[in-house]
Amino acid sequence: MSKRINLKVHLPKWITKLFPLAVWTLPTGEKVVYLTFDDGPIPEVTPQVLDILKEKNIEATFFCVGENVWRYPELFEHIKDEGHNVGNHTYNHLQGIKCSRKYYVDNIEKANNLIGSNMFRPPHGLMKQSQYYSILNKYKIVMWDVISCDYDSDLSPETCFRNVIDYVGDGSIITFHDSLKAEQNVLNALPKVIDYLLEEGYTFRKIEFPGLKPIKSATVQQKFQEIRNNINKLIKRA
Ligand SMILES: [Zn+2]
Repeated sequence: MSKRINLKVHLPKWITKLFPLAVWTLPTGEKVVYLTFDDGPIPEVTPQVLDILKEKNIEATFFCVGENVWRYPELFEHIKDEGHNVGNHTYNHLQGIKCSRKYYVDNIEKANNLIGSNMFRPPHGLMKQSQYYSILNKYKIVMWDVISCDYDSDLSPETCFRNVIDYVGDGSIITFHDSLKAEQNVLNALPKVIDYLLEEGYTFRKIEFPGLKPIKSATVQQKFQEIRNNINKLIKRA
């Protein structure tokens, strides 16, 4: 079956090159995938997502919004108690491209006072290069290669299911949302995605980087320069 081209669901390689030190997939050579959930925790959706994962005996990773953790600390603890991992998704779902480097970094730190993770995922998968390089020494930046688009209420759960299974592969990081916008889609598509992938022989793991070492700033500057050069080359060629 030929794959549909859907840039929203499966990111093209050049986008991943903008953030070369970020994690987009975690291939292991085996059939392993990583479920991730963004924007929670909220009482309307997160407990039901946790129930689905518990029923299927699966561990996942939740990129939490700081102000939701502040509002629902028990729910946040519940996620961790169930064996899942947590990552930072800013304090209030801040979009990096709309604010300064310092404001963004401070917002992430404010969230991390509550979340305490060495993983960060930028809202909408985007931030400025200056912000990216400012946080690399503290966080592993975790993106995704497959997104269900469950937040789009014009889509059906069936489409969200297909969005995942059409693009999934070894090491895929799959993104869902425990948010109000995604409620219908995530709660209906998630069990089907899990069942399908289990049947296909996939195992599910949570994302973790226990041995995360800080990246030296000289290396970071080098990388920054390399990217600027590459972008300049591309602009010249166009
Ligand atoms: Zn988000």
